Amino acid sequence: MSTTAPQLLNYVGGEFLATEQTFPNISPIDGRLLSQVCEADEALVGRAVSAAKTAQSGPWARTSASERADVLMRIAAGIERRFEEFVAAEVADTGRPVEQARRLDIARGVHNFRTFAELIRQSGGDYFEMRAPDGSDVFSYSVRKPHGVVAIISPWNLPMLLLTWKVAPALACGNSVVVKPSEESPSTATLLAEVIHDAGLPEGVFNLIHGFGPGSAGEFLTKHPDVDAITFTGESRTGSEIMKVAAEGVRDVSFELGGKNAAVVFADCDFEAAVAGVARSSFTNAGQVCLCSERVYVERPIFERFVAALKEKAEGLKIGYPDEPGVDMGSMISRQHREKVLSYFELAREEGATVVTGGEVPTFGDARDQGAYVRPTIWTGLADDARCVQEEVFGPVCHIAPFDREDEVIERVNNTVYGLATALWTQDLGRAHRVSRQFHVGMVWVNTWFLRDLRTPFGGARLSGLGREGGRHSLDFYSELTTICVNP
Ligand code: NAD
Repeated sequence: MSTTAPQLLNYVGGEFLATEQTFPNISPIDGRLLSQVCEADEALVGRAVSAAKTAQSGPWARTSASERADVLMRIAAGIERRFEEFVAAEVADTGRPVEQARRLDIARGVHNFRTFAELIRQSGGDYFEMRAPDGSDVFSYSVRKPHGVVAIISPWNLPMLLLTWKVAPALACGNSVVVKPSEESPSTATLLAEVIHDAGLPEGVFNLIHGFGPGSAGEFLTKHPDVDAITFTGESRTGSEIMKVAAEGVRDVSFELGGKNAAVVFADCDFEAAVAGVARSSFTNAGQVCLCSERVYVERPIFERFVAALKEKAEGLKIGYPDEPGVDMGSMISRQHREKVLSYFELAREEGATVVTGGEVPTFGDARDQGAYVRPTIWTGLADDARCVQEEVFGPVCHIAPFDREDEVIERVNNTVYGLATALWTQDLGRAHRVSRQFHVGMVWVNTWFLRDLRTPFGGARLSGLGREGGRHSLDFYSELTTICVNP
């Protein structure tokens, strides 16, 4: 393997730092070596936390909300200036279509910074008046202060989008941060460090460390006693591990975790819109979005027609190189993750599924055969308690089952350990409101999917998460509120 690949550096205390220990960043498009990533050891993670802590008593601590909003706007502009570099980096790490990276991933990175700049400018505190027992008019108000050092740990599936979703509000609230992106997608985070460096933040306010989870940078970071709060997006199992570590010191945590989301299609839906919507919610980003629908319930009168139409859509999706015109679906994140997805393809057969379409690896006869592709896959015929209907696969796959009654489908949708999102397709708005509130999830979409107003709360129930971020919920998580009660 070539050793001349570029190095991705850590960013600690305002300096870009190499380490002796590196790991390869491999393209899932064609198996090529993209870069060598400098892995932070425990000492370097300690330096990052210490730099972040020191920054809390420097000029950053004296900035006003409005000054921090200006910083966020400068970061947004900095990303925009290097937009195509970010797109190329995201695409190379993940194999997604270039158009998706432009439209969704990097655009949302910019939007996250602008949104939280606006929100922090406008945010006020609580103010209450009351009459005290001695007859005096007492007033109470709250002030927003940073936690101090926030650890941000993010996954590989939407690297830039999910990282900036946390970095922006954490900085808006005056924290300093130590960020650990996924080992599978380290490139846009490194570019972000460059943009932030150029935006003129005081040193130590933003730090980036590279590495893995257990026994590596992720664990070193979460267990560091000077980390005041931890925000994490990733697998439920990892969230549970981090929660144990966070218990030491009773640190605040915010978790956005896994899901096994349902789409529910009633017979009164706009059929074409529902088919297109479910195709999108099952196969976008090769099914590697936490919000993807892996369980689809279709009302019996339209079941056969719906399965046939979704099959046609899945088979019409163009899999290919990220920059191919008209490409719909890229690769999975890695060969290793593809192995996991393929193991579920096998399990589905063992569990008695009918494979309506897909279930295998495409062959291209070119460099992509060294990549990590799978075909979009649809199953029917599994019981609700089958492992393939209960466990998160995180690939371009869904199981479709018929249902007969509203109360029945609500119960079946809720029959899971997860609780992230549901997509509902019906033209009966009364039904939409009635049914939506009965799903035990953090987010319901009606006649749409993955449409986000960033001011709304976002998060999951049950194993899908802890707490809510988004809008003022983010500002609340990334702040300590002090209440001041005054007897004038
Ligand atoms: P993962 O849990 O394997 O890794 C996520 C991050 O945690 C990585 O940076 C990893 O290095 C780090 N990590 C792993 N073990 C750690 C430990 N013990 N201590 C500290 N850090 C550790 O998740 P993944 O495979 O990267 O991401 C896919 C998962 O993320 C899926 O389950 C998906 O549903 C979920 N997800 C959820 C949301 C949401 O908003 N709810 C969004 C995106 C992804």
